[in-house]
Amino acid sequence: MTLLDVKSDFPLLNQQINDHSLVYLDSAATAQKPQVVIDAVSDYYKYDNANVHRGVHTLGQRATDAYEGARETVTQFIHAKDSKEIIFTRGTTSSINIVARSYGDAFITAGDEIVLTEMEHHSNLIPWQQVAKRTGATLKFIPLEVDGTITMTSVKETITEKTKLVAITHVSNVLGTINPIKDITSYAHDLGAVVLVDGAQAVPHMAVDVEELDCDFYAFSGHKLGAPTGIGVLYGKAALLNQMAPVEFGGEMIDFVSLTSATFKELPWKFEGGTPIIAGAVGLAKAIDYLQTIGFDKIAAHEKALTNYAMSKLKQLDGVDIYGPEERCGLITFNLTDVHPHDTATVLDSFGVAVRAGHHCCQPLMKWLNVTATARASFYVYNTFEDVDLFIDGLKQAKEFFGDVF
Ligand code: PMP
Repeated sequence: MTLLDVKSDFPLLNQQINDHSLVYLDSAATAQKPQVVIDAVSDYYKYDNANVHRGVHTLGQRATDAYEGARETVTQFIHAKDSKEIIFTRGTTSSINIVARSYGDAFITAGDEIVLTEMEHHSNLIPWQQVAKRTGATLKFIPLEVDGTITMTSVKETITEKTKLVAITHVSNVLGTINPIKDITSYAHDLGAVVLVDGAQAVPHMAVDVEELDCDFYAFSGHKLGAPTGIGVLYGKAALLNQMAPVEFGGEMIDFVSLTSATFKELPWKFEGGTPIIAGAVGLAKAIDYLQTIGFDKIAAHEKALTNYAMSKLKQLDGVDIYGPEERCGLITFNLTDVHPHDTATVLDSFGVAVRAGHHCCQPLMKWLNVTATARASFYVYNTFEDVDLFIDGLKQAKEFFGDVF
């Protein structure tokens, strides 16, 4: 098994935190940036910065080429049929909100059902609560099995002929569960529902092919795969996006404007009102290039090896509750018995180990787990076996410390 050795590509990781070498295990919240991405963004501002689409001058053309070139990169990355199906947004949250506002408000009415799961991030829950409030539609939830997976039996019991839209996460940011999107999409389509996939935790870790999944919408954030914050993607099938109204109105998205009315550009620009996130798109394209050069098969194998190693070490410790299924994407959510996860994370930080603690924007899932919060260690391309060892050493210290306290 070849493991990746790319830590030195990420300058931030080369630092001491509390007199210890940094061990960054919070990539599910946001990933660190490789030097090539930092350089691409910096070079864009140093040499090419201008506004896009309108300028006839050379810099305007360069900025437009960079921005539209990034759209082509994303199109190929997720195997969309056409670059007009790729809308640049601020991130997963804004992508889902665009669909909720535009598709939800126009096509969902009283008596319709919106189907979600119990593991959704607030970003793929609250927009649908709001649609339900505005339209009178009903929210339904595919229930979780004890290990935090969903079964096709439950899927089939929940999606009905009244279901207008299924909104589901590809990978859970708490449990690491990988959902059977292709099967769900196929079943939902047979009953006439459209499917939106929250890909925030999938796209950084696995090759995603929207054509194969056959989903209608797919949302993700650049910052979780090494791109800057503030850039994200909404993929939508052109046939649907063409029927949908813009949600933001202003510059960049219009064709003709009079004092009393306006017509709008075609896809994808009708959804990109205002000056777009040009440098963010440039950084996203570079992050995608970087990951594709490594190869998603290698990335997945690397993360699996780290997760399995961490899992086996954690299981050797007494008093650790681990949540989620055996088969999972590269993260582990856990609690030390009788220790608040914020305290666990604080002790780990004193050893330079960064993990996340809290409800992870999944309060209903916390309720389902019967906890108020958890700690979460998440792995990415740059993590090493040594990182896992330091994490486990830190946890042992935390257990000893709190063992003395209780
Ligand atoms: N969905 C999932 C599953 C996530 O993990 C996240 C980020 N924590 C989001 C949605 C929201 O992403 P963003 O904050 O980048 O919009």
